[in-house]
Amino acid sequence: MISKPQASVTVVINSIAQSKKAQGIRVFNLSAGEPKLKTPKIIREAAMKFIDIGDIPYPITAGEKVLRKAAVDRMREVHGADYAEDECLVTTGGKFAIYLLLEYLCGLNSPLKKYPNEYLGVMIPAPYWVSYPAIAKIMGGRPVIINSTLEDGWKLTPEALRKAYEADCKFLFLNNGCNPTSVIYTREEIKAILEVAVELDLIVISDEVYSGLVYTDDEYVSCSSFPEYKNNVFVIQSTSKTFAMTGWRVGFVMGRKDIIDVLIALTTQSTTGVSLVCQHAAIAAFKHADEITAEVNALMKARRDVMMAAIKKYFNVDIPVPKATLYVWVSLADLGVKGIGDDDFCIRALEEANVATVPGSSGFGQHGYIRLSFGAEDEDLIGGIEALAKFAKQFN
Ligand code: GLU
Repeated sequence: MISKPQASVTVVINSIAQSKKAQGIRVFNLSAGEPKLKTPKIIREAAMKFIDIGDIPYPITAGEKVLRKAAVDRMREVHGADYAEDECLVTTGGKFAIYLLLEYLCGLNSPLKKYPNEYLGVMIPAPYWVSYPAIAKIMGGRPVIINSTLEDGWKLTPEALRKAYEADCKFLFLNNGCNPTSVIYTREEIKAILEVAVELDLIVISDEVYSGLVYTDDEYVSCSSFPEYKNNVFVIQSTSKTFAMTGWRVGFVMGRKDIIDVLIALTTQSTTGVSLVCQHAAIAAFKHADEITAEVNALMKARRDVMMAAIKKYFNVDIPVPKATLYVWVSLADLGVKGIGDDDFCIRALEEANVATVPGSSGFGQHGYIRLSFGAEDEDLIGGIEALAKFAKQFN
């Protein structure tokens, strides 16, 4: 089970695309899961005002009280959640919240272990975001992948959860809206999954960072809206997507106070906390959350439509319109591509056509698919899909 930690494929591809761009190469970056737009002015101004005061000390590790309060208040307003400020920790992005949770609950000194070198099972519905199994492995966990199919609507079902469960499983990841499939779950579906998860005594890590990027009238259902399951659920949130703040690295984990307190202790031993400059930016974002979220959401919806139109035009195919997130999840078969695997296809598209995309196999646990992000600007979306179609012709 001992293996070298794996670099995140999404981050690596995005970094390659960025360094090509820095060399003056015209790159179409459809890899990055980020809304490519300036962080709203009101947020930037709040950060600059704080910088101008000039006194930038270490942060309080748990996060500024007003930011923790703003985050839990927002969860209450939007999702009916019931968290107190001290049930929320400000983290260096949502990813570090997951890292901390698994470090404590799945790592060497996990209180859930009977003996130190036991491997706890971490249940992960696939297709999954690249970092779930990777972080689970880094922490000494054993990823237990629960596959889904296009026919299941790429959704985890309570039956599949039960079937995949093994005695050492202690955690379940839920990702609603899902990166990369863009799936969102109904209230009945979430409730049914939570019921089984609690019955199996699983701790649910509910990654809800795309909750603000939903483009249908369908209700977005947070796991935090079921008070009866509060003890079993940790919600991961972030300012990255909804407020266009990816680079500021401000995320949150919300859940039981006794566990949050340990995560705070771990933060004192690692990052010390999130930069106050970024925290003040995030405080401003929450003050204007309704306007900013509406603006970012409308823009991303428009970009989604631009990408869908470009796919129709250049690949001549109709694929389902994503209801949420920033991603079109499409099979190579639907793009008319044959005789090459998705990993090779994405590597060569980046090398030969300067189009950055993320392969399903090494990114998301699903062969034959690729992920296209529509967070980029219109000209990159259109130019990128055109260049990808030209490149793909050789595999028709
Ligand atoms: N979550 C985004 C993505 O999937 C950002 C990159 C990352 O942290 O993986 O592209």
